[in-house]
Amino acid sequence: MPIIDSMVANEEGEQEIQRQAQDQQGKSASSNVATRYDVIIIGSGPAGYTAGIYTSRAKLKTLIISGMLPGGQLMTTSEVENYPGFPNGIFGPELMMNMRQQAERFGSIVLDDEVIAVNFKQRPFIITTPSEIFETESVLVCTGASPRKLGIPAEQHFAGRGVSYCATCDGPFFKGEDIVVVGGGDTAIEEATFLTKFGKSVKIVHRRDTLRASRILQEKAFENPKIRFMWNSVVSDIKGDKKMARVIVRDINKENEQEISAGGLFVAIGHDPNTAIFKGKLEMDDKGYIVLKNQTRTSVEGVFAAGDVHDYRYRQAVTAAGFGCMAAIDVEKWLAEKKAQRKQQEIPKSEYIHERKQ
Ligand code: NAP
Repeated sequence: MPIIDSMVANEEGEQEIQRQAQDQQGKSASSNVATRYDVIIIGSGPAGYTAGIYTSRAKLKTLIISGMLPGGQLMTTSEVENYPGFPNGIFGPELMMNMRQQAERFGSIVLDDEVIAVNFKQRPFIITTPSEIFETESVLVCTGASPRKLGIPAEQHFAGRGVSYCATCDGPFFKGEDIVVVGGGDTAIEEATFLTKFGKSVKIVHRRDTLRASRILQEKAFENPKIRFMWNSVVSDIKGDKKMARVIVRDINKENEQEISAGGLFVAIGHDPNTAIFKGKLEMDDKGYIVLKNQTRTSVEGVFAAGDVHDYRYRQAVTAAGFGCMAAIDVEKWLAEKKAQRKQQEIPKSEYIHERKQ
């Protein structure tokens, strides 16, 4: 069990966290590191596992630290119908277990633990979990993003039983239903329009009286006869039995509530990237997503990123897996270049001149 109280380290707390992890390991400061890896992959969604399949097949010593929800967002999804290779669909948890086994088959070690501190200032890099410290030549950040929640008690209860955070993934399960979408940004409006292909009706509940979404998406939604807007409103409760059947919508100006029929509730109020432990260590945009340069490289040489942690546009399992593959290939190339450089430096000068003359 984790012994460290502060689960996310800031710069000052980092040394203390490393010290506590050393105590947990029963190691002295001079022998402070458990194992050195070629690459540590942080996160175990489609990006992380796919990266692990590639790096371990490339014979790189690979550790995947899974995070608090091994398998990531798909572990809370029911059926996945849009991941290629499964003509009859596959359950999210099964898909993720398959990916994990595939990575392990080639030699990836998967550790079900959480990273609480990273040190990218020294090389090899230091990665700390509550009970262990690891050294690694390279790091691949695949920590993903989490959909924002409404924060009402019934939301968790009906998750996967009507409440969804991804219309592309779950929309087709709501054929002929009355659907409610919460949010006023591009995602909410795009998803609401997409959901009209399946639902009997789509109501967009938005907390203000103007949308944040781009004009073109707004116009499309306003023209769609299946879409209705409920302005200045929030969803305050969800009702149903085994599956949700109704939502309570509160008008925040009039302070009155109404109960409306809904077989599905799509929460589209944004995502938050899981990047707290990298704050001040990797370049991020104003929303906290990791900024990539030169394909999958981050602002620190030797640290790469893949999946929803940098991609807020596509956010699909298949795109995350694709990014994981790309980043793993980049890691492999970068490590090979470093190795070649080191070898070059080791060649005695006389030998080098001799070789050149031949
Ligand atoms: P977003 O732009 O941050 O919009 C979030 C929406 O949810 C806002 O309307 C916000 O209301 C509302 N909201 C936030 N917290 C809420 C809460 N607790 N309760 C009720 N409502 C809440 O997020 P997004 O729509 O997911 O878009 C993210 C980024 O991806 C944006 O940059 C967007 O342009 C981009 N994107 C682009 C496309 C495209 O180009 N086709 C498609 C999807 C996303 P307020 O408006 O009142 O703040």
